[in-house]
Amino acid sequence: MKSLIFTKSDGGKLEISSHALSRMLAFVQHTRCKPEAGGVLIGRFIRDSADIVIDEVTVPMSGDRKRRFNFWRSRQPHQQVLDKSWLESGGTSTYLGEWHTHPENIPVPSDTDIKNWQDRLKKDIFNGDTLFFIIIGIKILRVWDGSKTTLVFRLLNDNNSNS
Ligand SMILES: [Zn+2]
Repeated sequence: MKSLIFTKSDGGKLEISSHALSRMLAFVQHTRCKPEAGGVLIGRFIRDSADIVIDEVTVPMSGDRKRRFNFWRSRQPHQQVLDKSWLESGGTSTYLGEWHTHPENIPVPSDTDIKNWQDRLKKDIFNGDTLFFIIIGIKILRVWDGSKTTLVFRLLNDNNSNS
């Protein structure tokens, strides 16, 4: 599986590594009964550039409640993964946002999603002004970036012609 590249609002690139991608795509809701899934995005700011790479994602863990149209994650086990990768990377691996699945071909954020994303921007501790939010649909995945300053979300341009 190839990595995916998107263009951020600021013109820099956002790369989703092949590893992170395959971990998320394992939860595509293509069957009727498959519940929503999600987790956090972990990655790096590339030095001397505006580019960011998502290297790793967390996946549903015990304590998370899964339903078909909703996903609620218990923060603590995901936070532990974040803390561990931050330490093991010498402080370069960091929290970049969240992902979850939707049972629709072309995913669109719900009102609840927007509210949750705004909460993340307001309450979470992260580097810079931006968090990323991925929704995995059945046919495609889409990525939005959100600004802590404006609380505005923008759909990122997909540079992957055959996605
Ligand atoms: Zn959603």
